[in-house]
Amino acid sequence: MNIAQLLVRSARTFPDRDAVLLGARVCCDYRELARRAGALGTGLSQRVGLRPGERVALLLHNCPQYLEVLYGAWSAGLVVVPINHKLHAREVEYILADSGARVVFTSADLGADLQPGPAAAIDVNGAEYLSLLASDGMAPVHRAPDDIAWLFYTSGTTGRPKGVMQTHRNLLSMTLCYFADVDTVRPGDASLYAAPMSHGAGLYNIPHVLAGARHVIPESGGFDPDEILALARELRDVSMFAAPTMVKRLVDSALARGLDGDGIKTIVYGGGPMYAADIQQAIAVMGPRFVQIYGQGECPMAITALSREHLANLGHPRHAQRMASVGVAQSSVEIRIAQPDGTALPCGETGEILVRGDPVMPGYWGNTAATAQTLRDGWLHTGDIGELDADGFLSLKDRSKDLIISGGSNIYPREVEEVLLRHPGIREVAVVGRPHGEWGEEVLAYVVPRPGHTLDTGELDALCLASIARFKRPRQYLLLDELPKNSYGKVLKTALRDLGDSPNDRRHIP
Ligand code: AMP
Repeated sequence: MNIAQLLVRSARTFPDRDAVLLGARVCCDYRELARRAGALGTGLSQRVGLRPGERVALLLHNCPQYLEVLYGAWSAGLVVVPINHKLHAREVEYILADSGARVVFTSADLGADLQPGPAAAIDVNGAEYLSLLASDGMAPVHRAPDDIAWLFYTSGTTGRPKGVMQTHRNLLSMTLCYFADVDTVRPGDASLYAAPMSHGAGLYNIPHVLAGARHVIPESGGFDPDEILALARELRDVSMFAAPTMVKRLVDSALARGLDGDGIKTIVYGGGPMYAADIQQAIAVMGPRFVQIYGQGECPMAITALSREHLANLGHPRHAQRMASVGVAQSSVEIRIAQPDGTALPCGETGEILVRGDPVMPGYWGNTAATAQTLRDGWLHTGDIGELDADGFLSLKDRSKDLIISGGSNIYPREVEEVLLRHPGIREVAVVGRPHGEWGEEVLAYVVPRPGHTLDTGELDALCLASIARFKRPRQYLLLDELPKNSYGKVLKTALRDLGDSPNDRRHIP
């Protein structure tokens, strides 16, 4: 089934319901959203001459046109290539060339520096776009479940990004998991796009289209905590996806203004580690509005979920461990913790997290070697290290490449980070390994202090020694004004490891 059928269905069931809003202003209802998508589909196939299976890239800020382009391309059977607008023009060009995109939908500010090669650029604010929108509508063309719908380039913290293929079946399965494992959605609820729509936040439009919910694009086009808190109070029943750093900023902003997140129904967080102290504070300030998910481009948003009920179950004897976990397997997947040769490990043992099930990608675009390395014996090898407990809760230790081995002992940076974050003077921290002649690697902590706080190595050491083994304690603490992050807000540990080779003495914590 073509995933675009979901919009057709909602447009029949809820034609008059508000569909897309820019801030609090309604741009169109479901009838009009479906009309525009159908017209674009006709325009792309008949006027531009694209055939099902060809690629169409979206290089856009979060904007009201995003959904109509997405569903328009799907209606015509095309493969959407979502591109993060924060990427450098040369990175964008790589993705356009690798995917063989025939068209790139963009806007004047983003397209200015771009040499799109053979891809035709269409400005979503331009005349050509308007004329495509004036085409007659079309019903979505048939797509088989294994046809590709979404070609997402991994954020590529190392090496060239790879194109993850997501089929119509993959996306439908992720959508049904949203209802089964993350949240219910009622017609009239609002999905607010604070994180880039080119990533998982954008994929969450699908359950909201299926349920006839509103889709809200903040006027800032991105993440502004004050704007979001104000919009939520005005629009009510607002849900959104937020990376842990965004949750932190939202909570800080709510605290500073004496707000409690009124109007927010659900914040789904994930995409990077959420430390126990941070989610505790978030719930204390904003209430039980949070659900965690764990996923990756290769199985987007759909590996595990930690429900709001589990987060709220303070009386459970294992509540603390559960809150620090990423929850239990979502309904469509199985999880295995495995040794390097793929053999399953028992509960309580640490190994690589493997996943299989309907949301798992069929492979990387045009890259059989990488596909063979990642999909083995029917399992997706995530590259994440974790542990399952007897109740089925998965705890993430680290990415396999972030593991530090010092004196033959494994040190999971996250464990050390969790401890350091308990210090009231620390805003952010990242722990990495640095080559060491005797030990192989030694532990190094990069620390971002809270404004007005002075840190002291003795105090930080004492904090570590009070809860983790001596050998895990950082041998050095280095101050940074901020941690290097990629355009999705993920901490770039590779950049930190490079910094570690040339430490700047003035930045040591005394
Ligand atoms: P990406 O493919 O860019 O979405 O990155 C996926 C990676 O982010 C995963 O493989 C994990 O390492 C990390 N990640 C995603 N969700 C979580 C989570 N809830 N907690 C910790 N790390 C996460």
